[in-house]
Amino acid sequence: MRKLEQAGGVKGKKVFLRVDFDVPVANGSISEPFRIKRQKETLHYLLDQGAKIVMAAHISAVPSFEPLKPQLEQLLDIKFGDGVTLLENTRANPGEEQNDEDLASELVAGCDIYVNNAFAVCHREHASVVAAAKLLPAYAGFLVIEETERLSKLINAPKEGKVVLIGGAKASTKIPVIKYLLDKAQAIAVGGVVANDILAGQTDIDTDNIKLHVPIDFVMGPDAPVRVDDSKALDIGPQTISAFISLVRDAKLVIWNGPMGVFEDERFMTGTKAVAEAIAASPAVKLIGGGDTITAVDKLGLLSKMGFVSTGGGAMLAFLAGQTLPGLKALGYYD
Ligand code: ADP
Ligand code: MG
Repeated sequence: MRKLEQAGGVKGKKVFLRVDFDVPVANGSISEPFRIKRQKETLHYLLDQGAKIVMAAHISAVPSFEPLKPQLEQLLDIKFGDGVTLLENTRANPGEEQNDEDLASELVAGCDIYVNNAFAVCHREHASVVAAAKLLPAYAGFLVIEETERLSKLINAPKEGKVVLIGGAKASTKIPVIKYLLDKAQAIAVGGVVANDILAGQTDIDTDNIKLHVPIDFVMGPDAPVRVDDSKALDIGPQTISAFISLVRDAKLVIWNGPMGVFEDERFMTGTKAVAEAIAASPAVKLIGGGDTITAVDKLGLLSKMGFVSTGGGAMLAFLAGQTLPGLKALGYYD
């Protein structure tokens, strides 16, 4: 992979920097700054070297970065306009998700080099991640380098004692990974919408697989009929919690992505809290990742007890499942 240090002198150069600012926003302000703070090292390295920076990122919680700029300046310890600018939400443009080359050209116009520091979107074939990287000499920023180095050490970890917990809502990205990891782990415990989909028979995952641990009881939504297949099961129940916790207790390596329930609502955060506490207390090697997982764990004050915290959710899982990540491919990772 081409790394930022190999870019040579960047003094006076204009750098297009793809960052990851996809954070939750509550009452108009950023409620979880972890991903933003992880951008500081690369950003300040480039500034200290005398580069000019054009940053680009997407955000799902709000349409525009504009009202968040004062908070971003504070979190990043920079001033916009002072050699560093931030483009608007890349996903506000339909060409972004089409990996559109014209959009990519517009984004990097006037820049000399491309730097990707957004590990969490490297599994997406998007214009600011892939097409743009093909237009300029392209390098990995320090966060992408660190994530790939830390995660690649775990890819071939022995099956014995490897416990993977997966939850959350993005079933389409997580189901293929669960299938792959079933062969590579001792146990996979699944919660969240992902589990509901599996139990409802909406996936081709065989629930008879003894390594697969699916919920056996649930906390249902306020007006939910007692059925799982309409996704009103909003948290895992107490028996499931006990089962998942004992898996964690026996693990040598724990990997977790995806909240076990709708943790944003206190009534449905019990499962997520119990899993987070069990991992925090475990002496195993630990890896967690994903925007919402990080938000939940930080809210519980347990982030520092989680081992390596990857900014990637889907990207982390895809990487661990040995998939080719288009954003890394564009940086020469697989050459
Ligand atoms: P991450 O960002 O950690 O990768 P996801 O984005 O896949 O996780 O999913 C997080 C979202 O999943 C949260 O907003 C949470 O409320 C939601 N979620 C978890 N369990 C359920 C459930 N049973 N029903 C509906 N939503 C759920
Ligand atoms: Mg998420």
